[in-house]
Amino acid sequence: MALIVQKYGGSSVASLDHIRRVAMGIVTTKSKGNKVTVVVSAMSGETDKLLGLAGQVMSNPPGREQDALVSTGEQACAALMAITLESLGHRAKSYLGLQLPLITDQVHTKARIVELQSDILHDDMNDGIIPVIAGFQGVCDNGSITTLGRGGSDTTAVALAASLKADCCEIYTDVDGVYTADPNICPKARHLKKISYQEMLELAGLGAKVLHARSVELAQKYQVPLVVKSSFGGEKHTWIVNEEDVMENSVIKGVTLERNVSKISLIRVPDRPGIAYKILSPLAETSINVDMIIQNASTDGFADFTFTIPTTDLEKAQELVSKIAEEIGALEMLAENNIVKVSAVGIGIKTNPGVAARMFKSLSEENINIEMISTSEYRISCIIEEKYGELAVRAVHKVFGLDDLNHTKDGEHKHE
Ligand code: ADP
Ligand code: ASP
Ligand code: MG
Repeated sequence: MALIVQKYGGSSVASLDHIRRVAMGIVTTKSKGNKVTVVVSAMSGETDKLLGLAGQVMSNPPGREQDALVSTGEQACAALMAITLESLGHRAKSYLGLQLPLITDQVHTKARIVELQSDILHDDMNDGIIPVIAGFQGVCDNGSITTLGRGGSDTTAVALAASLKADCCEIYTDVDGVYTADPNICPKARHLKKISYQEMLELAGLGAKVLHARSVELAQKYQVPLVVKSSFGGEKHTWIVNEEDVMENSVIKGVTLERNVSKISLIRVPDRPGIAYKILSPLAETSINVDMIIQNASTDGFADFTFTIPTTDLEKAQELVSKIAEEIGALEMLAENNIVKVSAVGIGIKTNPGVAARMFKSLSEENINIEMISTSEYRISCIIEEKYGELAVRAVHKVFGLDDLNHTKDGEHKHE
């Protein structure tokens, strides 16, 4: 008998039929003698629909109200799942984040979990009840509802698995595991049986949305056995494990595409100490995550200063930075959101010189211009024009020998 946390993403609960199919799977797991806690996302498309409604009212709605609105998607789905389980003759109870409680900080729309109480769920499971938790949401210390950022239900599931000391956390989604690139963009992507927490964290942080980056971080920290499976059945799956448990270690483990990227440039900024701090500190204070930063060489005491941020924060960032631009006497501020970030990820990068050059060569062969570059021990990232994003993923995937040569025309992968 095991204690299992199962998380079902939006596409797995897209309709009442989907919910019923998922509920039957949950019942099967339970009837094998396991204890099960379920986490659900909103039904597919629901979060976008709610955000769209708010966006019709105003372009940058207050975070508190946006969270109150979008958290209802998960609320409805958790209750529907519990009702469906009851209809199948099993006792079930839905919970919102605030009913556990799952307590977060006050950073609306991208809150982090600070405390999670799960005793009530142990009691339920001991009584034969299946708890169904609305993912993605929590409550902060002033009582307001918060959300954990797009894709955050994965993090709810892993946090619950850690708190419940579950034997395993299963993430059910619309793909049968983690691939070397998004299989919907790169048909020759290879399925991975295992990937290390560290590499998965890099992939997730750089746009591979199959797992929310925070969920991988928590799984590594609390050593939660984490597996990604398809909610539509099949044998394939991917385990996220410690680095020493991954047998084969290629130089590059995967390629990602991050679409939620914009850049802001300040032209002719006075080149003197404290300027970067002055430009970026208001962004840090409002929890806007600045990623790549470039300051070009100074000529005649002036330099251009460019940085990237998530597109979802662009409007707010423009508001803050335009004030600073005026204060420091910059010539002008430019913003661009038709860019994407393509990254190659792998623990082999730090020990293999020439990896970056191969990536740049593959992009140049496709005539793709690189606007910004950043590297770390584990990754190389390039900012390019949005329209070349998918082509770039396929080109970089190929140059590192990741293409699945057994791939057949109809998208089937014959071997792993
Ligand atoms: P859910 O709604 O179940 O949480 P998501 O849409 O958040 O599902 O995540 C699953 C999607 O992640 C897949 O449909 C796929 O397009 C995308 N994806 C991106 N990168 C990868 C990757 N390396 N491996 C597998 N899937 C990936
Ligand atoms: N429903 C939320 C989203 O679409 C959270 C999730 O699915 O994990 O981002
Ligand atoms: Mg997701």
